[in-house]
Amino acid sequence: MASNGENGRHQEVGHKSLLQSDALYQFILETSVYPREPEAMKELREITAKHPWNLMTTSADEGQFLNMLLKLINAKNTMEIGVFTGYSLLATAMALPDDGKILAMDINRDNYEIGLPVIEKAGLAHKIEFREGPALPVLDQMIEDGKYHGTYDFIFVDADKDNYLNYHKRLINLVKVGGLIGYDNTLWNGSVVAPPDTPLRKYVRYYRDFVLELNKALAADSRIEICQLPVGDGITLCRRIS
Ligand code: SAM
Ligand code: CA
Repeated sequence: MASNGENGRHQEVGHKSLLQSDALYQFILETSVYPREPEAMKELREITAKHPWNLMTTSADEGQFLNMLLKLINAKNTMEIGVFTGYSLLATAMALPDDGKILAMDINRDNYEIGLPVIEKAGLAHKIEFREGPALPVLDQMIEDGKYHGTYDFIFVDADKDNYLNYHKRLINLVKVGGLIGYDNTLWNGSVVAPPDTPLRKYVRYYRDFVLELNKALAADSRIEICQLPVGDGITLCRRIS
């Protein structure tokens, strides 16, 4: 697990880096991330830092990574499962062309509405279709409908970890061949390597087995190529190949 020094500014929003050195993580943020962070993202990050559940937000370095990745793959049609106040959503909206689209789903609209004024002010709200409610029935509907098969360039999954494999079963049909699914938090606070008797926070322990199962299933799935990166809390990129 990462050390938990007192001097890291990222601690303000409760973020723990997976890096062994908080100083090194702080170096990344201060040298390469914060100086290049767009004003809207900074504003949303600071608003979110005051939220009692701020631990859930995407970190600034991961936001920068997602933004770059989406530009590299020329993403236009994307989906996000798990929006919270919208930091990763904003990073995505900023990367897409003006006619780009994001289907964004969350069971909680109130948190989305905290970030929405920032997204609107940045002139990006027209790219977003927000759906309030559990994502799984929406995906089932899309699969049944048929016209959404193979239509997504990028899908970011950052919601209920006990459903990731259920999402994967559906998303593999909705993403384009050559497109990407990004599963977030696949290193789950470093707990994936914690010995069984390690004291863990209750929610970390609860979801740990699901995250371990997901990691195994993705590694064994011949329909995708994968790349797991220690950015944020770990993100596994899956490129659909068949
Ligand atoms: N990507 C977000 C960001 O950048 O701030 C963080 C998402 S947060 C870690 C997880 C979100 O998933 C929460 O806002 C929660 O309400 C949402 N969620 C939980 N279960 C869900 C479900 N079944 N369907 C859709 N969203 C869900
Ligand atoms: Ca996350």
